[in-house]
Amino acid sequence: MKCLFCSLVNKEMPVQVVYEDSHSLAFLDINPRSPKHTLVIPKIHSETILDLPESEREPFWGAVVAVEKLLLESIHPNGFTLGINQWKAAGQEVDHLHMHIIPRFLDDGGGPVQMIVNNPKN
Ligand code: AMP
Ligand code: ZN
Repeated sequence: MKCLFCSLVNKEMPVQVVYEDSHSLAFLDINPRSPKHTLVIPKIHSETILDLPESEREPFWGAVVAVEKLLLESIHPNGFTLGINQWKAAGQEVDHLHMHIIPRFLDDGGGPVQMIVNNPKN
């Protein structure tokens, strides 16, 4: 089955690009949880950080930093939540690696990322 995010890389579907270089693409999440909620993906198809080629790790992280800087300049958030949902148990719906960059604001009603689960005895 065709990968949705590979389709975005190839511009076969509408995408609101925030940042792009030869290794990475960043675009606005279609269902944003905060202003300018952005997804950063490697252009090469990888499901998780485990199968991302080693040579792509640094470009991927570099794109994350570049996007944070752009968002800081454009909307001046008070913080960021960064997160990767890896595999179904963690809520991964699109099986192409993506880092959520969620701009945060004081009193935005959200919490820290570790609040998403409370199952310490499993
Ligand atoms: P997850 O796999 O749960 O980490 O999240 C997938 C994310 O992709 C969700 O936040 C969706 O809103 C987002 N998404 C799905 N389709 C698109 C699309 N065509 N363009 C932008 N974001 C999308
Ligand atoms: Zn893909």
